[in-house]
Amino acid sequence: MNKGLLIVVSGPSGCGKGTVLAEILKNDNIFYSVSATTRAPRPGEVDGVNYHFLTKEKFEELIGNDGMLEYAEYCGNYYGTPRKPVEDMLTEGKHVILEIEVQGAMKIMEKCPDAVFVFILPPSLKELRRRLNKRGTETEDVIEKRLSEAAGEIKQAYKYNYTVVNGELSEAVDDLKAIIRAEELSAKNYPNYIDEVLENA
Ligand code: 5GP
Repeated sequence: MNKGLLIVVSGPSGCGKGTVLAEILKNDNIFYSVSATTRAPRPGEVDGVNYHFLTKEKFEELIGNDGMLEYAEYCGNYYGTPRKPVEDMLTEGKHVILEIEVQGAMKIMEKCPDAVFVFILPPSLKELRRRLNKRGTETEDVIEKRLSEAAGEIKQAYKYNYTVVNGELSEAVDDLKAIIRAEELSAKNYPNYIDEVLENA
């Protein structure tokens, strides 16, 4: 069986990554990697669903055991991708989505050059500010911190394979689906489609 695709999705806080991905994850063959973090849960977030919420000590223990595929510090907290579930799902032929920030994505670029890198852009920085204010889940301080990270993050989008502008949600979802489909059809990723044709002489 073919291995699944490792799909890395980044984008500044408030660009609507989560909403786009919720649509994409309606496909049973796509698995969302639940990250670990040391930040506190937001209202409504569930441990093991949105994140594995860990203490700093536990997180550092996992780093020490090579249990993280990648990790980064972002706005004063650790965020990381537990290695085993990702590797298991890829081996089973499922596509895996990592929703991670830019430093983590750069680490995956080094370790897994065959992964697909997608950057979700807001239509503008002004709109990003509006969305973060509207979400209302962060304090004014945190919003300012996240906005000041945003421009720096967006400058790194040049390093990704694809960009998707999340202006109109349905268009962004269609664009991401098209990217995944194109990668599925790539001769590099699935050469055995070619082998199948040749075998049926
Ligand atoms: P938030 O606190 O808004 O949930 O996430 C903050 C940032 O951390 C987002 O850009 C999000 O994509 C990123 N992030 C979430 N999980 C991971 C992870 O496992 N690794 C890395 N490097 N970044 C992550």
